[in-house]
Amino acid sequence: MSEVKIAPIPDLGQRTDEITIYAGPCSVESAEQFDEVAACVKALGLSWIRGGAFKPRTNPHSFQGLGEEALRIMKDAGDKYGLKTLTEVMDSAHCQLVADYVDGLQVGARNFQNFSLLKKIGQVTAESQQMVLYKRGFAGTIAEWLAATDYITDCGNGNVVLCERGIRTFETATRFTLDIAAVPVIHKQSLYPVCIDVSHPAGQRDLVPSLAYAAVAAGADSLMIEVHPNPPVAKSDGPQQLTPAQFEKLVGELRDLAAVFGKKIV
Ligand code: PEP
Ligand code: MN
Repeated sequence: MSEVKIAPIPDLGQRTDEITIYAGPCSVESAEQFDEVAACVKALGLSWIRGGAFKPRTNPHSFQGLGEEALRIMKDAGDKYGLKTLTEVMDSAHCQLVADYVDGLQVGARNFQNFSLLKKIGQVTAESQQMVLYKRGFAGTIAEWLAATDYITDCGNGNVVLCERGIRTFETATRFTLDIAAVPVIHKQSLYPVCIDVSHPAGQRDLVPSLAYAAVAAGADSLMIEVHPNPPVAKSDGPQQLTPAQFEKLVGELRDLAAVFGKKIV
């Protein structure tokens, strides 16, 4: 009988033993609200806090974000707690402003193919090499995503994290369908770290833990999780945001799960 040859496992790209959590409220609503989440994130030994300053709302009459005031609130909390800050930049005209206040710049799903924004972000961060978290659009393929990433990197910043946040399918039971396979596919095809945003595909907070376990098990390099001190009064995405207590429990579980893979949560 001839010997069965097993194909070698391909190089799955850049991996570290750390899984970063980008936690924080959907929208920065006040200094008190953001401080409360920052205190929680810090107490859990995490390193990043997220929050929306400019919000890409489907309806123009919905809360649009506090803009520069939110950036100031984020910077103050980041300095106070020694946390890195991440926020979305929606408009090319705001890139420098946002880069001046925060550590990481997020490209939202709705700007997936806003190529002039991608270029501008790349230019503005070329010197600083600030992290750019580039979210997948809800109708974008992985090939389109990887191709468009070059708009950022060609301008001189390769510090890009690709964030899967769910795509549109025929399924309506969840807000978006989380494409968990994006993690190994991108690891195979590139060196970029992959983040899984577990809040926006879930749409409901009780689904968030399961998606987070799946993200860690799939090999995600980072997770995005929305946390609000009082979700029922949140100005955006209330139903999917975790309370600080729920978040603390989840982080404990994720630490145990990450340890199975020889990784730690930061
Ligand atoms: C967000 O992270 O707050 C957000 C608006 O996400 P997305 O662009 O994925 O909808
Ligand atoms: Mn949100």
